[in-house]
Amino acid sequence: PIPTVIVTGASSGVGLYSALTLAERGWHVVMACRDLAKATRAASAVGIPEGRFSILHLDLGSQASVRAFVTAFQATGRSLEALVCNAAVYLPLLKEPQRSPEGYEISVATNHLGHFLLSHLLLPELQKATGATPRLITLGTVTANSEEFGGKVPIPAPADLGTLDGLAAGFKAPVAMIDGKPFKAGKAYKDSKLCNMIMSREFHRRYHDSTGIVFSTLYPGCVADTALFRDTPPLFQSIFPWFQKTITKGYVTQALSGDRVAQVVIDPAFAASGNHWSWGNRQRADSQPFAQPLSSKATRHELGTRLWDYSCAMVGLP
Ligand code: NDP
Repeated sequence: PIPTVIVTGASSGVGLYSALTLAERGWHVVMACRDLAKATRAASAVGIPEGRFSILHLDLGSQASVRAFVTAFQATGRSLEALVCNAAVYLPLLKEPQRSPEGYEISVATNHLGHFLLSHLLLPELQKATGATPRLITLGTVTANSEEFGGKVPIPAPADLGTLDGLAAGFKAPVAMIDGKPFKAGKAYKDSKLCNMIMSREFHRRYHDSTGIVFSTLYPGCVADTALFRDTPPLFQSIFPWFQKTITKGYVTQALSGDRVAQVVIDPAFAASGNHWSWGNRQRADSQPFAQPLSSKATRHELGTRLWDYSCAMVGLP
């Protein structure tokens, strides 16, 4: 049977090129997107082969939409061999927080809570996988790993969940940050990505042995010209790709990032669960993937279990 993978945010950037490579490598790709017309245009623009993909509506910022998506996926009758949690919003210029329908700050609601709920609801489907050993792969990032230089950049502040005081306070207005401190839009994104990496480790710890599902994150390199940066200042948008290409040498093309995601979904070299995969920060033609250690901020057991419990409560899981 043809294995099936769901890719969230497949209408653009890393997700779109992941969908393309996965389809070219013989998988059926369910593009889980908030804008169906845009997803249709994007699939045709990069040439995802007809019959190798379908598009289903998913707005990760809305928990009702996440639940509706899972019901719609189940109705297709397809098996599920992999889930790629890729979609994200980055809104660094916001002065005031935007809120999800449930009242949570939008980047944490979309990037973390939406994927957390989706992952939970799709675990039973992954467990029934028939076409390949199931994998649940989440996009992490260097800016959420304080072990690395990119994770120490203080603009506007490094990722830091503190002691989860904002979650303890209910995470609704006026609270907008997980640590309960004043709103910083760029940090909210980094925090949400740190949550992605912590939760993947928690999924691994709780479910890998009993289900066989592989839970890992990856950093594909700096894909400096995706639409992720659409809400940054215009000057930043023109300089950032150049800076990453010539100064840090961290730049990778969207096509290469998609290829790397597909490797982590399919290849035997990435079959070990509980890892964060990276090709390093300076890209070279012979860059080899390796399992990268995460910072203590991402691996503290007690923080992981408390984040898990608060997240369950916020998405209505027992
Ligand atoms: P893009 O902005 O190009 O793509 C983001 C995707 O997420 C789009 O398809 C977007 O949909 C979708 N999306 C946003 N909000 C929602 C929502 N509420 N519901 C459903 N889908 C949504 O960004 P990238 O491709 O650069 O980023 C993809 C992932 O890669 C992110 O997780 C990011 O953190 C990670 N990453 C990116 C790096 C980079 O350098 N670019 C580096 C490291 C990690 P729409 O098209 O409708 O806007």
